[in-house]
Amino acid sequence: MRDWPVWTLRRPALCYWLFIDLVALGMVTYVIISTPTPEPSEIGRFAAIAGTAGAVIIGSSIYSHRLGETERNPWAAHLSYLTAGILALPPNLLVLLLFGPALHCLLAQRPETHRWLFTLSATSLAVFATRYLLGWSNPHAGLPVMVLGAAVLLTLRAALIALGLKLRRPAASFEENVGEPIDVILGIVAVSIGGLMGCVAEANSIHALIAGPPLLLLERAAQLPQWRRSAQRDAKTGLANAVHWDSRARYELTKGSSRTRPMAVMLLDLDHFKKVNDEVGHLAGDAALAAISLLLRGTVRRGDLVGRFGGEEFVVLLPEASPDEAESVAERVRKAVAALRVPTMATDGNPHELRGLTVSIGVATTTRFGYELPDLLVAADAALLAAKAYGRNLVSMA
Ligand code: GH3
Ligand code: MG
Ligand code: MG
Repeated sequence: MRDWPVWTLRRPALCYWLFIDLVALGMVTYVIISTPTPEPSEIGRFAAIAGTAGAVIIGSSIYSHRLGETERNPWAAHLSYLTAGILALPPNLLVLLLFGPALHCLLAQRPETHRWLFTLSATSLAVFATRYLLGWSNPHAGLPVMVLGAAVLLTLRAALIALGLKLRRPAASFEENVGEPIDVILGIVAVSIGGLMGCVAEANSIHALIAGPPLLLLERAAQLPQWRRSAQRDAKTGLANAVHWDSRARYELTKGSSRTRPMAVMLLDLDHFKKVNDEVGHLAGDAALAAISLLLRGTVRRGDLVGRFGGEEFVVLLPEASPDEAESVAERVRKAVAALRVPTMATDGNPHELRGLTVSIGVATTTRFGYELPDLLVAADAALLAAKAYGRNLVSMA
């Protein structure tokens, strides 16, 4: 228990996460104790909703497993049948539905159980709040109230989770905490399908089956952001890969040229990196690349575009950076890399702290080379070669 990863959370995040978990646990206990035994018709409705959702999620999981998808987002489907439960089930059977995501965590052996539990607890609280709003013992199914309920469910859940993520990592971006626009759309589709499922199940339990195909489509569509991310990101460092960086950079440059904003491109190449691999091993080399990527992201501004250009080469587009500003950013990065220490494992299996890494940086600015990406990259590359020739661990302006 002492080595549970949850204890590595920052103290404010730990307190908040545990608080949410405890409140959710308290609510679940209260609901189970206070709700009367369900009627057979309600149990039938529960079986139809849970059975339809279970079949879809398990089928989709098996399919995903076969495709080798490791990162999945199953929450859209969970949200969908929970919405149906809010509308059509008594509170204690609604609680039973919440065991769906819990079971999912157990069966799928999620790597971060505490994070999953926190998300589940936040979801449970949003579910209970929505149920309360719609009518605790007899939910109201009028359209305006349902729309309001859906908005409360999605907003409250997102807010509770976003606050937890913000406390966990204050530097995280809004998008990392709240999700991308596609996540919002998926949430809306999920509660809409859930709403339909709940309404038809209320009239006739077995009709809940009709929600199966749209739920399956939702389950598959929910994997799209993951697919897009893995197509755009470099797996080793999490940075934009070369192709994605190239298209984003061209877009930003076109946008910048119309407003004649000064911009800059920074090309970085680690010094004598082959030696690191040869002396400490390739896994240590990989750890150094990951640590430098993290450092790069933390050292530049939020709107700056960091990418992995090649093996141990990185590239950064700095929108809104004059030549002087670009030079000082490059200097800051160079110094930060020189001060970096990376805990790794050497080839003999012993812990080893990598230090003394250095980087050479070439910088090209639109002020001198214009807004065409190839021109900027050629100029930055020439400056990088000059930095290497002058002795490395240097910034060179093209
Ligand atoms: P310098 O740039 O200072 O001239 O010397 P260098 O040794 O860094 O030379 P170069 O830039 O040509 O280095 C490329 C080396 O980077 C070769 C390879 O061993 C290492 N490398 C490239 N990609 C990876 C990777 O993904 N992981 C690891 N561990 N090493 C990589
Ligand atoms: Mg290189
Ligand atoms: Mg190198």
